[in-house]
Amino acid sequence: MDLKKAETYPWLASARAQVKSAIERDRLPHAVLVHARPGLGGESLALWIAGVVLCEVQAAAPCGECASCRLLAAGNHPDLAWVTRAEDAKSLQIEQVRTVCDVLALKSYRGGYKVAVIATADVMTPNAANALLKTLEEPPPQTLLILCAARPSRLPATIVSRCQRIPVATPPRAVALEWLQLQDQEAAWNDVLDFASGAPLRALELRANAFDDLHREMTQALAQLARRELDIPGVAERWSRNALETRLEWVETWVTNSIRKSLLDTADLQTSGGIRKIRGLYGVLDRARGMRLELASSLNVQLAAEELLLRAESALAA
Ligand SMILES: [Zn+2]
Repeated sequence: MDLKKAETYPWLASARAQVKSAIERDRLPHAVLVHARPGLGGESLALWIAGVVLCEVQAAAPCGECASCRLLAAGNHPDLAWVTRAEDAKSLQIEQVRTVCDVLALKSYRGGYKVAVIATADVMTPNAANALLKTLEEPPPQTLLILCAARPSRLPATIVSRCQRIPVATPPRAVALEWLQLQDQEAAWNDVLDFASGAPLRALELRANAFDDLHREMTQALAQLARRELDIPGVAERWSRNALETRLEWVETWVTNSIRKSLLDTADLQTSGGIRKIRGLYGVLDRARGMRLELASSLNVQLAAEELLLRAESALAA
């Protein structure tokens, strides 16, 4: 684990400053809530905060070199507990939260702070939230609890109100593009960033997963669809076998952008054809979203993909 990763993400600068300033003024709260959408590095920030608090060279924390930092980087610091939703689980379980609370209640091994990170905190079960509330109400001394959530509104207000918020905003486009250029000069980041909803790390991930090829293929498929030339059953079959979720996300972003363009085009809004097209696009958007939510269930994906493509054809070829 790279303790200093969060220092390489410029959009985390104000969040980092907020933490440093609290420590310098000796005003570190017992609990913080990192509010960041996926792709903004919320968990890297949580690790960095843990590093700042546990590092033994406070002037340079996290220094990355002291014994504490080395233990953290190796993933086995005895004064840090880290829990997250299991990959195959829908929510964070009460047992996981109890582990965290137990660790915080123990005496520090290294004589400093104890830190616990609850990643994906917004998918906690109500029982887990209740268990956590007890620790939040009576926090043991010299402890820091870090919650990470993409949607804090899903957490009980009683929990949120006991945490100091650390919001991470989506960076301005220019900042995101400049950082992405530094990672790879060759890439056409503009498109990728659109499809990552402006989140730089998500853009990086999309590109690592052959986004360029998918983008080309999808753009071509929609152009064919608009000319009623797409082999819908064949394409539905291919989609259902390959990267379906990413394709659905792609369709959602593409359709959202098309709707936005049409709504800005007053000429479009003044014809019944234009309005029918926008209505049709909303139908496609609903279907794509619905389908993505149903992916985990026993949906007949090939049939659903065919329906989606038919709907898109009638919206685009109208
Ligand atoms: Zn250190």
